[in-house]
Amino acid sequence: MVKGSRYHGSARYVAVPQPPNGLTQRQVDAIRTAMYLFVEEDLERGVPPQSTRPCSVCRRPRSAAGFVTYAEFHLCNQCATEYEISRAQGIVRSINDFPARRAKRGIGVA
Ligand SMILES: [Zn+2]
Repeated sequence: MVKGSRYHGSARYVAVPQPPNGLTQRQVDAIRTAMYLFVEEDLERGVPPQSTRPCSVCRRPRSAAGFVTYAEFHLCNQCATEYEISRAQGIVRSINDFPARRAKRGIGVA
């Protein structure tokens, strides 16, 4: 991506909206959909829908269905989804970076 380059006066160069985070909304949605499969699979395997586990990242008791383990981190589905999106965006390189980055940048704070 060449920043600041413009093609004035030519209708042929229609600017394709470039998402600021480097991912299109469809790509983000695809990650979310893929990550949600972990929830569905856990429920199908018999994880009780009401059961909770503490999340390594958000530190809250979260639905046990959909937890994803990365190294020594056990992430709730929401944090795991944020992590995968952040990794795809190049914001974090590994799970070790994620908790600190998340806190610093406010990733996922909705
Ligand atoms: Zn979490």
